[in-house]
This record gives sequence, C-alpha cells and structure tokens, in this order.
Amino acid sequence: MPSQLLELYLPKAAEIQEVIEENSQIKTFVLAFVDPEYNDGFSYEPGQFLMVSVPHCGEAPISISSTPVNRGTVHLSVRRAGKLTEAMHDMHKGDVLALRGPYGRPFPMASLVGRDLLFVAGGIGLAPLRSVINTCLATGHERSITILYGSRTPSDIAFKADLQAWGQRDNVSCQLTVDRAEPGWDGAVGLVTALLGHCTLAPHETKALLCGPPMMIRAVLGQLADRGFADQDIITTMERHMKCAVGICRHCHMDDKLVCKDGPVFTLEELKQLNVMELQG
Ligand SMILES: Cc1cc2nc3c(=O)[nH]c(=O)nc-3n(C[C@H](O)[C@H](O)[C@H](O)COP(=O)(O)OP(=O)(O)OC[C@H]3O[C@@H](n4cnc5c(N)ncnc54)[C@H](O)[C@@H]3O)c2cc1C
Repeated sequence: MPSQLLELYLPKAAEIQEVIEENSQIKTFVLAFVDPEYNDGFSYEPGQFLMVSVPHCGEAPISISSTPVNRGTVHLSVRRAGKLTEAMHDMHKGDVLALRGPYGRPFPMASLVGRDLLFVAGGIGLAPLRSVINTCLATGHERSITILYGSRTPSDIAFKADLQAWGQRDNVSCQLTVDRAEPGWDGAVGLVTALLGHCTLAPHETKALLCGPPMMIRAVLGQLADRGFADQDIITTMERHMKCAVGICRHCHMDDKLVCKDGPVFTLEELKQLNVMELQG
C-alpha cells in the first residue's frame, strides 16, 4: 500500500483526561493526543467527526462535541450501541484509545452569523450541535438562540450542565421535553415537534440545525417547511455506517453522495436531490 494511503488510516493515540457521565447510556470523553506536538496542532470544525478505535473492538465514527475555540482537548460524547462503544464505556481516565481525523464537511458556521438560530435535537443528537452552540456562544453570537431537546425520560436527559449554562444566557432559550414523565418531572411531555409548535420564529431570519433519530428529523423537517423555512436554511446531519471515512470504500453512500466526505452535514436543499429514507413519509 502506498505510504500516503497508509497515513490516511493511521490513528493517533489519545489519552482520556476525564470521563463525564451524561446519563446511564451516554458518556463524554475528554481526550488529548499523547504526542504533545500533534495535540497542539490539532484543529477541527463543528460538525466534523473522528474515527475512534479500541484494539479488538473495531472502529466507528463519533462526532466531536467540543468547541474548537477551546484548544488542547477534544470531547467525544458516546452512546452505548455495540462492541466499540461498550468498550469505551468501560474505559477510565488515563486509558488510551486511537483516533484518526477529523473528517467530514462541517456546519457552515459563517452562514449562522447575524441570524437567529434554532437547534432541534434528540438524545445523543445534541453532541454535534453542542459543538456549534458552544462555538457560537464563545464567538459572541448576539441574535437569539432557541434550543429544543427531546429525551425518552427525564433520567435520559444528557448534557445537563450545558443545558443549564446555555439557559442562563440572555439570548438563549432552552426547552426540554420527554417522551415519558417520571415522578418529580413537571416539564413538557411529548415529541420535540410539540415544542416547535409553540415557538415564535421568523423563518426568513432563522437558520435551523437538527440532529437526532430519523423519525424526529422527518417530523421536524416537515414542520419547518410548513412554517416557511427555506430549504437552504435547514441544516441536518446524516448517519450511515462507514468503514474508511475518507471517500474510498463508498460504504456510506446516499445515491452519488458520501456521508463521510459530502456530509455528514447537509442542507435540506441538498438532501432533496437524493433518495434518503429520512425524507420519506
Ligand atoms: C458521522 C457520524 C457521527 C456519529 N457520531 C456519533 C456520536 O457523536 N456519538 C455516538 O454515540 N454515536 C455516533 N455515531 C454512531 C456510531 O458511529 C455508531 O453507533 C457505531 O455503530 C457504534 O459502534 P459500535 O461498535 O459500538 O456498535 P456496532 O457494533 O456498530 O452496533 C451499533 C448498532 O448498529 C447496528 N449495525 C452494526 N453494523 C451495521 C450495519 N452494517 N448496517 C446496519 N446496522 C448495523 C447494530 O446492530 C447495532 O444496533 C455517529 C455516526 C456517524 C455516521
């Protein structure tokens, strides 16, 4: 194999600095590359992902959930799903895993400047949006930011510390909903689309960013279109199983587009050119 191609697949060792337990299924790993020079030079943009590997457990794409404004560490928020993510959940501070990347087309951050922002997320879907939200806040976004976040139950609400910090900002409104209440929960119960129904939005002045399970995406896309949002103002991320992450294996194709290189971030305008299940009723 030519050395340039080999380099593409060569992961770098990264040490876990801290593990934040977001809920029983999601942990945020704060990581720093073991090579200090590489760590200092490492940069990424909100919406990009890393390929994470643990020996004998395979490799999987995980979105970067931290903001590039805070250099020195990178956050990966990981939901238990299978072999690799289970292995990660058993790891602790000081353990080492392997990362390659960053990969993928990021969110179009420049286009968010001067616009109201609507973030709609379900479950682990808040991970890539957390990177965008914290970047906007760190760079002085002055227009209004509305965050709608849906979880299965109150115990499943992840990123509680972030939600609390965001809610304290003058220009940020954070609204939570759960599918199923538990004793002590006096917040909203129902789908995130119900929260959206109660929001006052100016579609021509707002960019909407969504990330969550396909059913949520489908419902929110429909509602935003009904509210008069233009297709290019609705931005979402697509998830497909992938192997190489660099556009070679084509495992993650959606028609002639690849989630790893053309995405994972797409506008609704772009998705409408493709045959994707998330848009099918
Ligand atoms: C761009 C991108 C960003 C992502 N970001 C995050 C993130 O920030 N946090 C996070 O927790 N997850 C994220 N994911 C999802 C994560 O990569 C997957 O859940 C991954 O499969 C976990 O690996 P695993 O080995 O733990 O589980 P796996 O063993 O891969 O199993 C996970 C689930 O996928 C099913 N599955 C396995 N292989 C296939 C296949 N070939 N086709 C269909 N189904 C299959 C399994 O049955 C199981 O239900 C992201 C995915 C993409 C594409």
